[in-house]
Amino acid sequence: MSIEEVDYNAIVDRYESYGIKIDRKMVIKAIEFAVKYHGPQLRASGKPYYHHPIDVAEIIAELKFDSDSIITAILHDTIEDTDLTYEDIKNHFSENIARLVDGVTKLTQIEFRAHNVRQAENFRKLLIAMSDDIRVLIVKLADRLHNMRTINFLKKPEKRERIARETMEIYAPLAERIGMQKIKIELQDICFQVLHPEVRESILGRFKGVVGNTGDAIENIINSLSKTIYPIISSAKVYGRKKTAYSIWMKMKQKNVNIDQLSDIIAFRVIVNSVEECYRVLGLMHSTYKMVPDNFQDFISTPKNNGYQSIHTVIIGPFGCKIEVQIRTQEMHDIAELGLAAHWRYKQNHQDNADGKKYTWIRELLSILDHNATPEEFLKNTKMAMYYDQVFCFTPKGNVISLPKGATTVDFAYMVHSDVGNRCTGAKVNGSIVPLKTELVNGDQVEIITSKKQTASPNWEKFVVTGKARSEIRKTLKMQQYDQYVKLGSSLIHKTFKSEEIENEEEALDKACEFFHKSRLDLLYAIGQGSICREDVLKQVRPKQNKLSAALSLLMLKKKKERNNKNEENKVPIHGLIAGMAMHFAKCCHPLPGDEIVGIIHTGSGVTIHTGECKSLKNFTSMPERIIPLTWDNNITNIPFIGRIEVSLINQPSSLSVVSSDIAKEKGNITNFKVKGRNVDFFDIAFDIEVKSAAHLEQIINTLKMKKVVQQVQKVR
Ligand code: MN
Repeated sequence: MSIEEVDYNAIVDRYESYGIKIDRKMVIKAIEFAVKYHGPQLRASGKPYYHHPIDVAEIIAELKFDSDSIITAILHDTIEDTDLTYEDIKNHFSENIARLVDGVTKLTQIEFRAHNVRQAENFRKLLIAMSDDIRVLIVKLADRLHNMRTINFLKKPEKRERIARETMEIYAPLAERIGMQKIKIELQDICFQVLHPEVRESILGRFKGVVGNTGDAIENIINSLSKTIYPIISSAKVYGRKKTAYSIWMKMKQKNVNIDQLSDIIAFRVIVNSVEECYRVLGLMHSTYKMVPDNFQDFISTPKNNGYQSIHTVIIGPFGCKIEVQIRTQEMHDIAELGLAAHWRYKQNHQDNADGKKYTWIRELLSILDHNATPEEFLKNTKMAMYYDQVFCFTPKGNVISLPKGATTVDFAYMVHSDVGNRCTGAKVNGSIVPLKTELVNGDQVEIITSKKQTASPNWEKFVVTGKARSEIRKTLKMQQYDQYVKLGSSLIHKTFKSEEIENEEEALDKACEFFHKSRLDLLYAIGQGSICREDVLKQVRPKQNKLSAALSLLMLKKKKERNNKNEENKVPIHGLIAGMAMHFAKCCHPLPGDEIVGIIHTGSGVTIHTGECKSLKNFTSMPERIIPLTWDNNITNIPFIGRIEVSLINQPSSLSVVSSDIAKEKGNITNFKVKGRNVDFFDIAFDIEVKSAAHLEQIINTLKMKKVVQQVQKVR
């Protein structure tokens, strides 16, 4: 096949028509290389292959990138598809261009081999190359855009759909993330056309119904808006455009309305020279037209995450049409449409300004790419980063850990390894020690401090957000509880054997295990936990057992169990307690139904119940295995509990009677009181009051607070 005549100068003229100055000689040389090396290769369209890179370069020119980017675009498929090598490009052009082309090639390779897991090492190399220069990413996007523009030439529908889905999932969000609105919109609309052609057709049809077949409606509104604005700001430019079918469809889905109810299927834009003018136009709009409430957004004072700035407002505009108006400066507009490309350009113009900060998220994104071993993970993480519901944090070695938003240092620890989680005693974020429940943000460097003595704490469950952390904590706590009961059971049975003068304890336990069909540990656990009581064990190990009495004692055991269960239901209004173990309420903090509660196991003397805030719990932080989480039974009603409050009263004769009658009115019953302090103006009294619940006590406190004689009331903790 002969190679067609190529008009090199005409192509470069086309590039320059976008208002950029380029190195014509080098660009022409690049086109010559593309033509020569792609040679007779054809695109699916039947056209010579080199038309593709030349068109991709035009997209880059339209974005106003530099000569190196344009040359990279022209050569972007040569390393992959032709005999041209990295060395060749380096020798004929420059090392920099060779590196850029190589970066694009490597991205293309993941794209096509995404279904096979590629070697992790190659993948890392490619991503490192990629992170060198953001222009690689831009050329890749332009390449994808051109492939999408020509996707209808692909014969197989499955192939079109696969590429469209990949574009929808990776490239369109990527374009959005780097702020390139215009490319994102075009990519999405083409994908929409490939994936849901009928839906798109029907929306376009209905759209015509709303705005009319001709463009008159838009034209007329633009004229009318201009008449309002020009007398005040003559340099303002007013534009109107139809939204794409895809964006209308998304709006309809998001707002769950039909197309006639959408206010912004035509968007109007006013572009002015300064921020001050933006607000003047806004004032003009709101004073001339009726503003539709709840639709006003000021992204100038609060820019979006990707740097987007603009004012959005919805008004009942000319001809009574409900329309959205966006107001912004030219620079804001460029950044909104071209995103990174615009930033890059502004950066070229202000070499010395320290705008590195704007790119923090790019570095984050790239470092995610850099640290994931497989294309699958790359795809997954790229998607996630787009949706802002993840935070990415670093280990001290620089590995990236991805977590859901709201995750804490403990989630991080468990994500690193369950042992790290279980042993964590503290955390450093970016070098400073922070509380364990600190929420992490993107880019945090997290170091977990561990100790072999530490184990998971029930408190962590309150703030962790990942399923992994939660299930690990529960698993560990269960194991701890099991161990604790085994220890308790062991010490109980030992005491019993001793007092009953049973000499060979080992043998006795073996006998009991056999009888109850349990392993040694399970038996001790059952004893500690109270489901098997010591007397029953004793009966089995006494020498004079016969079959009848054994059967009898088993029966007794059953009955006792039933009784215990009943007792528990009637008496102890708390879930999580150890059946058969003594329990009592702590005197230090007076827990009431409704308070958060925990139990402390005292070996041999049962469980003491404290409020979750009780200061005495501090004494047990080093012994988390003795702390058991408890909850109140919500069904309890009439059992009175003692709550204690402390009241500061104005020192006058009627004070005490006011307080006591108020407590009585609120159905509290004073069981005790004590004067704790007294001076000329005030005296402090502690009251013990029988109440139904924490809420009941709270109600009494609130009533007392209203009284003039009461200077202060508080719960005693
Ligand atoms: Mn290509």
